[in-house]
Formats: sequence, C-alpha cells, structure tokens
Amino acid sequence: MARAAKAEINLAALKENYLLAREVSGNKAVAIIKANAYGHGAVEVARYLSDTADAFGVACIEEAVELKEAGIEQPVALLEGFFEANELELVDRYQLITAVHSAWQVEAIEQASFQQPITVWVKFDSGMHRLGFDEQGFVDAIERLKALPQVGELVMMTHFACADEVEGDYTPTQIENFKRVSAAYDLPVCMANSAGTLQWPEAHGSWVRPGIMLYGADPMDLPTENGARLKTVMTLSSALIAIRELPVGEPIGYGRRFVTDKPTRVGVVAMGYADGYPRHAIDGTPVAVNGKMSRVIGKVSMDMMTVDLTDQPDAKIGDPVELWGEQVDVNKVAACADTIAYTLYTGITRRVPLVYKK
Ligand SMILES: *Cc1c(COP(=O)(O)O)cnc(C)c1O
Repeated sequence: MARAAKAEINLAALKENYLLAREVSGNKAVAIIKANAYGHGAVEVARYLSDTADAFGVACIEEAVELKEAGIEQPVALLEGFFEANELELVDRYQLITAVHSAWQVEAIEQASFQQPITVWVKFDSGMHRLGFDEQGFVDAIERLKALPQVGELVMMTHFACADEVEGDYTPTQIENFKRVSAAYDLPVCMANSAGTLQWPEAHGSWVRPGIMLYGADPMDLPTENGARLKTVMTLSSALIAIRELPVGEPIGYGRRFVTDKPTRVGVVAMGYADGYPRHAIDGTPVAVNGKMSRVIGKVSMDMMTVDLTDQPDAKIGDPVELWGEQVDVNKVAACADTIAYTLYTGITRRVPLVYKK
C-alpha cells in the first residue's frame, strides 16, 4: 500500500465560495491566490476560475509570473506592489496591476515607461499600520500618479486589521478613516478581505479581495449568516498504518505526553508535521476515522500521529482518517494547535499530493 496521505481539493466548492463573495458584495472580486493559493495550488485554482474570476491577487512578482507563464489571462494584482524598481519591466510585460504603498514606488513609476498605461492600486493606511500611506502621503501619491501618462486606472485601497471581529468597533473606524480621505476622489475603491466581504457591507466598495473564504474556512470569530454558507474545499486525509491495544498507565509517543487512563486501542496514522499537520496539536484535537469522530492522543511526530480507536473496535489497518475537511472543521483543528486555518493550509508540504475534484 502506498502512503495514503493526500489533500483533496474540491474546485467546484471553491468556485461557489468565489461566487458567494461576488454575490454578497454585489461587486467585482479579486480572487486572492497568493502563497500557492493558500496551499491549494495557484495554477490549478486560477485555471479552474479562469472563466469566472474578475482578477487574481498575489503577494509578489514571482507568483504573478508563474500564473502568466501558465497562460492565465485575467489581470493579476501585486498586493504589496513591487519590491524593486526593476520589477516594473515584468509589470509592463504582463500588464500586472500593482499596489503602491510608499513614495519610492511612485518615483519608480514616474521614471518608467510602459507599452500601455498600467493600473495602480494606491494603498491608504486606515489603521492597520503595516503598509500604506498616511493621509498627506496618499493625497500626494494620487496627485502624482494622476498626472502620469504611463498610469491608466487608479484604485484606492486599504486593509483591515480586525474585520473578523463580528462585534468589534475598529473596522467601522477604519472604514471612516478611509472614506474621509477617499471622498475627495471619484475613483474605484477596494477595502474588504474575506471577513470584510462576509460581514461589513459598508466596506464592499467597487472591488473585494476574498482570500481565506475561497478555501471555505470561515474567518469570523462568531457564527454569521454568510459564514455559514461557505463550502469546504480541502480535505486532508490519510490512513491507519498500525493498531495496538494498550493497558492503563502506558505512554504513547514522544515525551510520554499522553498516558492511557483506561485500556486503550491506539491507531497510528501516516500523517505528521512534515506533511504540515501541526506538531503542537493537543491531546483531544478532533480527527475522523471511518467517518466517526475521534481524537489525537500523544504528540504528533514527523511522519506519524496517534489517535484513539477505543470506541472503534472494528477499525482496521488501511481505514481512512480525515485530519480536516468535510467532517473535521479546520478551524477546530487550528484552535487545538493555537493557530489559524491560514497557517494549516499554507503549511501543507510537497510530500502531500493535491488531488483535484471538479
Ligand atoms: C492576503 C490578503 C487578502 C486576503 O485576506 P483573507 O483574510 O485571506 O481574505 C486581502 N488583501 C490583502 C492586501 C492581502 O494581503
């Protein structure tokens, strides 16, 4: 039996999630497929969405070029802009959209010439304090870019720090800050990530930028109507490779973290942290064996992990184990590993084949 670890990707569900972003916002949506589409395979995802998506968003020029070389025709946006002025040659060649968040980038565009005018998304720092211009810098950047023949469309953008907090008051503050400076210009606006798309209608603007919601993980900190409509995309699974019966008082795995408190049937699963499963998943982290809920017992090792089969006397070697997906909520696994679904998805390693379902 070959190693059974795999991540199945339900592309039809991904497309439904994209269409949900468009439906709830009533606007155009940049499908964010940076970081290899959050571990789901950027080229495969872009190809599947190529008859649907308005544009794609990535983190850097290398990710954009990969899509263009694969023949993706939609506009591709560099969400952090270019890191060095010499990337502008590729921005021009592939007609990429570039964000601009610092004055040196405006200067670089002023000094460049392009075959066709480029589209620039100008980023305002409305309160996240990571990238973006302050109020005066933003006005200066827009005025300078507007004056350039090498710049075509301008879009005003910002990014939220806390849009996942359903009851938080910081997103309205950021929206207000953004509206105050953007009101001076009659230009398209783009504010919302997934959480902003799902929960903050005032942030919908002309474009939204859904990322994690495309992959079906609900980013909100409380249940919401739109969040409940997301479809699971990735199912990470493997199989039992050994089963043993232990009496009470026996340790399992490295460091003896778990010690049996009753006679225990233990299943060994071919999945470990070298596949991207979180090493610090606590005892009790949910898994599903043969479609029935069970739990992690003992530390996750590099290539294997151990689960409780005491309630499953019929489970046998080769039986399927789901680590997250249709039955096991990725957000619950993330919570048990003190992290978020984003890191679980992007942490899947190349040892795990991605298997596409259309
Ligand atoms: C990654 C990213 C997004 C998508 O965020 P999600 O929380 O995954 O929806 C949107 N905008 C920018 C600028 C980003 O970097």
